[in-house]
Amino acid sequence: MIICDVLLTGGSYVTMDAGFRILEDHDLAVKDGKILDIFPTGSKDYHAAEEIDATNCLITPGFINAHTHMPMTYFRGLADDLPLEKWLQEYIWPLEARMISTDFVYDASLHAATEMLMHGITLANDMYFHMGQIAEASIKAGMRVIVSEAIIGHNFKGALTEIGSKVQTFKDQYANQALVDCCLAPHAIYTCSREILEACVKAASRHDLLLHMHLSENTPGTG
Ligand SMILES: [Zn+2]
Repeated sequence: MIICDVLLTGGSYVTMDAGFRILEDHDLAVKDGKILDIFPTGSKDYHAAEEIDATNCLITPGFINAHTHMPMTYFRGLADDLPLEKWLQEYIWPLEARMISTDFVYDASLHAATEMLMHGITLANDMYFHMGQIAEASIKAGMRVIVSEAIIGHNFKGALTEIGSKVQTFKDQYANQALVDCCLAPHAIYTCSREILEACVKAASRHDLLLHMHLSENTPGTG
């Protein structure tokens, strides 16, 4: 008998290996948070504290949401039929200036993480403010997250040479937390100057950080 933590029995598995194999009627053993074995149902004698009957289920790797603003879950549906420029300048930015707080960001992020997990998303690549609260909410929910501190030109007050240092400090702080990573997030080409974008590229290289931005979100005035 082989001991593992979780055993899924039956079901079909989308392996995403080099051959993109789909294994039908297999069992899957998990130990220490990692897949230990996948084998034809009942062909090995595994014993687990938790056993899940996955018959008639399709088991896939977790989905990745490659672009989120998790706290904005609480703004869902608000003026969402307007052109981007009008939506941002007349509704979202004024609303954020009035309402965003650390509690708001934590609560809305917890809501967003829970909602994503319920739909199979296990990693979100987020862009917003108060990355500590978003990280903590994601940890509480048990979801992986890449957080970032959005840089928007008209709000940016720091020195260009210091871009990246806050994210690096955060990265060091969460170095031992497997669920959390962080990156640099210049918001968009229409909200960041060339100087800010160049400083972000240099900082990303200097601190070995990923970059996350709206590359082709929309063009102001075109809707
Ligand atoms: Zn976005």
